[in-house]
Amino acid sequence: MHPALADDLSRLSELLQSARDYAAREVAGLAERPAAVSGRAPERAPLPAEGVGGATALTRFAERWAPGFSGSAGPRYLGFVTGGATPASVAGDWLTSALDQNVSGAGGSWAQELERETVGWLRELFGLSEAHSGAFVTGATVSNTIGLAVGREWLGERLGVDVSRAGAAALGPVDVLSGSPHSSITKAMSVLGIGRDRLRQVPLLSGNREAVDVSALEEALAERDGRPAVVVANAGTVNTVDFDDLRAIAALKERYDFWLHVDAAFGGFAALSPEYASLVDGLDAADSVCVDLHKWLNVPYDAAVQFTRRRDLQVAVFHNASPYLGMPVGEPDFLHLTPENSRRLRALPAWFSLMAYGQAGHREIVERNVALARRLGEGIDALPGLRLLAPVRLNVVCFTLAEDPTTERVSALAQAVAESGEAYVTPTVYGGVPGLRAAFSNWRTTADDTARVLDALAAASR
Ligand SMILES: *Cc1c(COP(=O)(O)O)cnc(C)c1O
Repeated sequence: MHPALADDLSRLSELLQSARDYAAREVAGLAERPAAVSGRAPERAPLPAEGVGGATALTRFAERWAPGFSGSAGPRYLGFVTGGATPASVAGDWLTSALDQNVSGAGGSWAQELERETVGWLRELFGLSEAHSGAFVTGATVSNTIGLAVGREWLGERLGVDVSRAGAAALGPVDVLSGSPHSSITKAMSVLGIGRDRLRQVPLLSGNREAVDVSALEEALAERDGRPAVVVANAGTVNTVDFDDLRAIAALKERYDFWLHVDAAFGGFAALSPEYASLVDGLDAADSVCVDLHKWLNVPYDAAVQFTRRRDLQVAVFHNASPYLGMPVGEPDFLHLTPENSRRLRALPAWFSLMAYGQAGHREIVERNVALARRLGEGIDALPGLRLLAPVRLNVVCFTLAEDPTTERVSALAQAVAESGEAYVTPTVYGGVPGLRAAFSNWRTTADDTARVLDALAAASR
């Protein structure tokens, strides 16, 4: 054994203790470290020839790189839709690495069963019936890609083509209909050989809405003369968290032939609160569903879950059968369900967080985040220099400069806020107007944090 490795083995518990102490200090100070960091990263170091051992590696990391890490897991980082990591989920994540299970399949371990238990809990959390099965993946982009891949296979079933064997081209052109899809949908279409240009954007409801006009969707489906399609419904748009009417869209399945995929990356968490659960009424009727977990569940990157009612078609797409891996029989191993073969036990952090805080704890995070987003929205509305671009529907505040909101001026505002270290918000364009988004999805954000964000915005927009 290389001496540095042998030395680390003999002092394993000290090394883990140092990493623990370091992490505990950093996380304790998270609320006060700058939300975002700028400045230049250090010059790249050469490949270490001999290695310095784990303890010195920790020191080098702490000196060279850690100062440039953002406070994105902290309470005032409101860019994109960024969750933090609950205490129990961090413990679960550490153990995922320490115990290093490969959940491609059973492989002589109970780990795969733990993933199945966790998927079952999540299914219940989001109000899905047992008709849905699922798996952990790295993020909503992959979850959406799987949903569309299974939808593509379903189109083949309708048209008498075995897509997994004959290839996507054998289907002919595939249309994907959607109102306000996330960019990951067209990315998935590119990956799957459907093609980004096959998105058929359906008109939205009038009156400052991002939700699809269901009667326009019906017209688009009627024009297809029975040719099956894929419909992507959006349950929580990133700009204004608008929701398509899932129940009404699902009802169209009685008259038209389509695969219904719902991108509920973060909006799916509305299901946790009785007050907002009606926003995702009808979710269970979807053929496939995407929910992100590193956003509003507040588990560490990277984790999402995908669900579908057609596991048979999912296996047709993703099966990885060979003499040494075995053919999928009975309940398929995960390697037959997702793009990966070897897989991290990504379920363990979610398992820990759900075990530790339960449905009630996670509901409280969602409800507090929504209440704070509303509070920030009211505060912004009252500032002379800013105005809301849309009502605060759930956990995102979409706003811009009251006067002359050019791209340059809005970016300068975002930059000034970031440089204050107090908060981080990210740019967007809404209804053709450059604006900013403040998305609440962190478990530790408080009313005090929200007041500090508002002060930072007020100062930067003065
Ligand atoms: C964040 C998001 C995605 C992409 O999620 P990743 O986890 O970053 O891949 C897709 N759809 C919606 C609605 C999202 O908010």
